[in-house]
Amino acid sequence: MTLVELADVSKHYGNIRALAGVSLEVDTGEITCVLGDNGAGKSTLIKIISGLHQHDGGVLRLDGEETMLSSPREALDRGIATVYQDLAVVPLMPVWRNFFLGSEPRKGVGPFKRMDVEVMKRTTHAELLRMGIDLRDVDQPIGTLSGGERQCVAIARAVHFGAKVLVLDEPTAALGVKQSGVVLKLVAAARDEGLGVVFITHNPHHAYMVGDRFVLLKRGTMVGSYTRESIELDELTRQMAGGNE
Ligand code: ATP
Repeated sequence: MTLVELADVSKHYGNIRALAGVSLEVDTGEITCVLGDNGAGKSTLIKIISGLHQHDGGVLRLDGEETMLSSPREALDRGIATVYQDLAVVPLMPVWRNFFLGSEPRKGVGPFKRMDVEVMKRTTHAELLRMGIDLRDVDQPIGTLSGGERQCVAIARAVHFGAKVLVLDEPTAALGVKQSGVVLKLVAAARDEGLGVVFITHNPHHAYMVGDRFVLLKRGTMVGSYTRESIELDELTRQMAGGNE
């Protein structure tokens, strides 16, 4: 099933054209990679899919239904979770608290009960483990984790809270080879759980390690769109390098 579809989408900021004629699809259990260098329009694309900005041309469809997302809340309610590069985590809070951030009991309910805390710690550990991350001490401040582990917690959190679509903003950009590998494994695990993933990156190698579809952006326009079967890594890398000219 197609979860997200952009058809000929454009976005302007005043006179500046940030995106024009961009089309892509994200299906259940599939990773669509969006590749591009600085200024290609990747952030603008994320903002449209996550409800921060509205497109001004073309069509956005969610589950086949034409939609204009008016807020990040609405995107979240429709099952779209975005993990930004700077991650919405509170460094001094324990990992488990960050995992449950935003899911606190609402108005009129006091702080977590002790019992709840134990359950939440166990849940955090179990969920991370299920996604392939064995983090023994979920009580440590999340700021003490590596960048890769923090990304993993943010991704596992989105999966746990029922996202259907995961939008990842350059999740491996600041990471070394080993940590990138851990994050990419988790991205693949999210796909294998049936989520649709939009993976924004400027790294064709990382894209090709997990991607099912590849969309290349350059200065706001789509310069290529491929399925995994239709392109080899060498060619994808060459196309990206061509985008620098
Ligand atoms: P980067 O990785 O550098 O953030 P990007 O691929 O994410 O690049 P965007 O940030 O989407 O690209 O920017 C696409 C174009 O739109 C750029 O020319 C940028 O200067 C312009 N742009 C982005 N946001 C705004 C804004 N709020 N107002 C005006 N122009 C903008």
